[in-house]
Amino acid sequence: MSAPGRGPTRYDLDRAALAEVLADQPSYRVDQVWEGLHGQLRHPAELTNVPAVVRQRIDDAAPAALRPVVVRAADDGATTKWLHELRDGTQIETVLMHYAERVTVCVSTQAGCAMACGFCATGQAGFDRHLSTGEIVEQVVVAARAAAPRRVSNVVFMGMGEPLANYDATWAAVERLQGPIGISARHLTLSTVGIVPGIRRLAAEALPVNLAVSLHAANDADRDALVPINRRYPLDELMAACEAYVAAKRRRLSFEWALIADVNDQPRHADELAALCRPLRAHVNVIPLNPTPGYLAIGSPTERVRRFCDRLRDAGVNVTVRDTRGRDIDAACGQLRADHQP
Ligand code: SAH
Repeated sequence: MSAPGRGPTRYDLDRAALAEVLADQPSYRVDQVWEGLHGQLRHPAELTNVPAVVRQRIDDAAPAALRPVVVRAADDGATTKWLHELRDGTQIETVLMHYAERVTVCVSTQAGCAMACGFCATGQAGFDRHLSTGEIVEQVVVAARAAAPRRVSNVVFMGMGEPLANYDATWAAVERLQGPIGISARHLTLSTVGIVPGIRRLAAEALPVNLAVSLHAANDADRDALVPINRRYPLDELMAACEAYVAAKRRRLSFEWALIADVNDQPRHADELAALCRPLRAHVNVIPLNPTPGYLAIGSPTERVRRFCDRLRDAGVNVTVRDTRGRDIDAACGQLRADHQP
């Protein structure tokens, strides 16, 4: 699938499409170019093992999808955030995070988002369009080049957009990252607001990726208010799909929980959440809400976060508090783009 309107970009070409572009060349050239673009993450101009006309042909047939508009570093250089402009002028965000034991890239799958979660900056801004496979893959390539000499070990599909609402392009990106780019499926995590048919499709795929479900509320009344898609796919259907995923994949399921002061941080919320986690042996990722301009509530204070997590742990649930990387550069959740809108 190509980026809309403008023909394929560099990583929209699959191997067969690349072979067509190089139809008059010996087949080992196709291998060289494919390996250079994916295994070595090279720009076409850096493919010095192929003739200049071939380099030029690749550049003409499949130009880069992304142009960085803003690149910001934070956390003493451990976090880098890009605001990329696509060829039609649409903007998306990508984040690179260095940890002691891993290097993680967070990619966008759509420009904007149609899910309309009120607390999310991307949701507040609405939907622009789906990203193509190439636009998703190239985000990882750009970040991986910046991360060198460290290798990107993990990719999380937790940037702008809803991956399972752009299923085909997202899944093709997963396969490209896992195969030619060489990131293990168990280090790829799709995060979803809870699109039940998408989770069921994922359960039937061969590659065992990790699934994260953005829960934020563990009863239908609260979740209807926080995550509007819950009215279409209520919790009992969502939990049944999660169960099917875990049974099929044997991968860890995690629930995301943006902890919002007085909204979902009380003891009864922890108890409701624990009840959903236990049968699925789900892990909980807690992140104190990052404040956004369109939503009045604030993140829970540290002490409340601690109590919420303790209560979950006492109920036998595994919990991680996610550090809020990049707050100082508006790396949280669509805010960089929001600040650069005309
Ligand atoms: N649409 C997908 C992936 C993108 S959002 C999903 O919903 O999972 C990635 C994560 O960031 C989700 O868990 C989302 O709920 C969370 N998030 C969005 N806005 C946030 C905010 N202001 N503070 C904390 N987490 C937020």
